[in-house]
Amino acid sequence: MVIIGAGPAGMMLAYQLVSNGVPVRVLERHPDFEREFRGELIQPAALGPLEALGLLPLLVERGVALPNIERRLFVGERRRVMVPGGQERGSLISQAGFLQVLHELCGRHPHYRLDFGTTALRTVRENGRVVALETRHEGAEGRVEGELFVDCSGRNSGLRKDVGLQVESTQVPADVVWLRFDFSDQPQALPEGVDVHMFGKGVVTVLFPTTRSRLQVAYSAPGDLGGLRKNIPELRRQLLPTIPARLRPHVEAKLDERTESQFLRVIVDRLERWFVPGLLFLGDAAHTMSPSGGQGLNLALRDSFAAANHLLDAIRGGQPLDEAVFQKIEAERRPEAERIQAMQTRVHRMVMAPMFVEHLMFTVLGLVLRLSKKASQGGQGFAPVEVRYGVPVSRLP
Ligand SMILES: Cc1cc2nc3c(=O)[nH]c(=O)nc-3n(C[C@H](O)[C@H](O)[C@H](O)COP(=O)(O)OP(=O)(O)OC[C@H]3O[C@@H](n4cnc5c(N)ncnc54)[C@H](O)[C@@H]3O)c2cc1C
Repeated sequence: MVIIGAGPAGMMLAYQLVSNGVPVRVLERHPDFEREFRGELIQPAALGPLEALGLLPLLVERGVALPNIERRLFVGERRRVMVPGGQERGSLISQAGFLQVLHELCGRHPHYRLDFGTTALRTVRENGRVVALETRHEGAEGRVEGELFVDCSGRNSGLRKDVGLQVESTQVPADVVWLRFDFSDQPQALPEGVDVHMFGKGVVTVLFPTTRSRLQVAYSAPGDLGGLRKNIPELRRQLLPTIPARLRPHVEAKLDERTESQFLRVIVDRLERWFVPGLLFLGDAAHTMSPSGGQGLNLALRDSFAAANHLLDAIRGGQPLDEAVFQKIEAERRPEAERIQAMQTRVHRMVMAPMFVEHLMFTVLGLVLRLSKKASQGGQGFAPVEVRYGVPVSRLP
């Protein structure tokens, strides 16, 4: 099996297949796992399986996961409101560290191979079925054959267009500037959990601690945030008033041209269908999530759990890995992805309101969710996902 993209969806799927004896080759365009840094919250819905597989304790032991993390939502600096996705605690997990651990564990099996620096360019089809990929590695074009291909290459996957699948997208009014500060000189100043502050008219600032005593700050607002990222005086002018007073002097002292930063265009989209013969799409490649509510990573992992179940059912049952299997995977995962995207789109609309309306809406929403006992669903997922063929880390060779 060939997996395109060594992100959370691709590597988690690789782990489950490889540990169950299925030969897997992963293609990753980057030379290593140090991709652009990202939001790192993993919700309870994906933590259960990671715990059951023994991965979460291993990640904590390696210092790449911070467990038991609370999420708090505020209007302005201090007025706390209920988190629509639920109050359950999650974990902050460094994506690079997590992917490296999965790669090491997969590497204990001889039937696993990961090609870094290899980009999937186009599909090769015979009789309508994808049978190979044209690739580029160190400037040279090549071809990778396979029985089955799973595209986990994330947002804007080029293979979507290549196989002619339509994409349905929703307009989102604000993008994000992502910043990372080194707080190793004052780790005690870091917040303990994920704090989201909403200031009306689309302005939202998210702060959370990450591994190696770093502070991540995501600043979201309407307008040209790609340009704002490069204009440090203007970024300081807009961002600093949204940072809680306790942290503001530290961020003010550290924010300059050397600060690690990146621009995230917020996208919410999904494929009309998650597969064509021979090729299945999972994670952001099938349904790109907005960072709202920290759900992208969660869904990518849950897609891979469901996909591994159905693929391994078919392999063990001696059935062909065809569209009937892909259909089952899409049928299981699409409703949750669409429901969470609808929730994200609603939240994006709510944060566009003036601050006092925003406060009112989030207070009412919190009450409704509490009364209807639906508050925990977002963080717990909307559908049960089990790991039927999970091989715990302790049982690996
Ligand atoms: C800056 C940023 C901040 C984010 N913040 C949050 C957040 O706070 N909370 C949240 O839940 N989600 C967040 N997300 C989204 C989250 O990271 C994704 O939803 C999640 O990583 C999706 O996992 P994935 O495995 O589907 O795709 P990805 O993690 O995108 O992995 C795809 C992999 O495929 C590789 N690839 C791409 N094209 C090719 C190709 N042609 N050939 C070979 N390899 C290829 C990429 O290099 C990458 O390693 C953020 C994303 C970004 C970019």
